[in-house]
Order: sequence, then structure tokens, then C-alpha cells
Amino acid sequence: MAEKNQRLEVVTPERKVYSEDVRFVVVPGVVGELGILPDHAPLMSGLKIGVMKVQQEGKTFKMAVSGGFVEVRSSRVTVLADSAERAEQIDRSRAEAAKARAEQRLATKSADVDVLRAEIALQRALNRLKALQ
Ligand code: ATP
Repeated sequence: MAEKNQRLEVVTPERKVYSEDVRFVVVPGVVGELGILPDHAPLMSGLKIGVMKVQQEGKTFKMAVSGGFVEVRSSRVTVLADSAERAEQIDRSRAEAAKARAEQRLATKSADVDVLRAEIALQRALNRLKALQ
């Protein structure tokens, strides 16, 4: 018998990143990773910067997400993310450049640097590189 699936929609303010039936999803919830199978109880949670794992027809792939929200309802998982990229959409050299820029800003310790902003940019870049591993 075919395995039961659930619909996964990943949307950002810029674009629809993903919309397909999948078997299993792991999202980076603010209080820890959340694994979601079909028929999961209704749920809403904030997301932190992290890697989503998606299992579809026996294959697993990764997506980098930069915070947002997840809603689970009626075997439908909706991720509203600040940004999201499937691993193959990630530009490694862009992420490496963003990482170097953020590290350099943090190293200068200049009063002009918004430290929190640089730290979050660094987390986004490191997360994209992690999703590529
Ligand atoms: P950068 O400084 O390189 O713009 P960023 O972390 O500030 O990085 P975001 O504001 O998170 O970028 O994202 C802006 C847009 O660029 C989003 O659509 C995001 O998906 C995309 N994006 C950012 N970095 C990458 C990357 N390395 N590869 C592919 N797309 C990326």
C-alpha cells in the first residue's frame, strides 16, 4: 500500500518555494526540532534559523530557513519563512561572502556596527552552508 503523505507548502514574502506531497518533515521550531508525519495534531510554532528536512518517496533533502512560522492542520504543513532555499538553490560563494562580511563586521568592534544584525546575518550564512553539507 502506498505510504500516506501530507502537503508541504513553503512560502516566503518573495515567492512560493515549495508545494508538494511529502512523507515526513522536520522543522527548526523555536523550542527544538519538530518532526511532522501525516495526521499530526494541529500545531502552530515559531521557527528559528535552521535546516528543514523533507522526506519524499524515500529520498530526503534539506532546505535552509531563516525563521518564520509553521502551521500544521488537516495533514497540511504550511511554512511561512523569512527566507527559504532548497539546498540546490543555495549559492555557496554568496553564503561564504556573507559569512566573511558578518565576521569582519563583528571583528571590528566599531560603534557603527549593529552587532545583533551582524550576528543574525552570520547565523543565516552558516545555516545555508550547513544545509549544503
Ligand atoms: P546576502 O547578504 O548574501 O544577501 P542575506 O542573509 O542577507 O544574504 P536574506 O536577506 O536572508 O540574505 O535573503 C534575501 C534573498 O536572497 C532571499 O530570497 C534568499 O532566499 C536569497 N539568498 C540569500 N542568500 C542566498 C544564497 N547564498 N543562495 C541563494 N539564495 C540566497
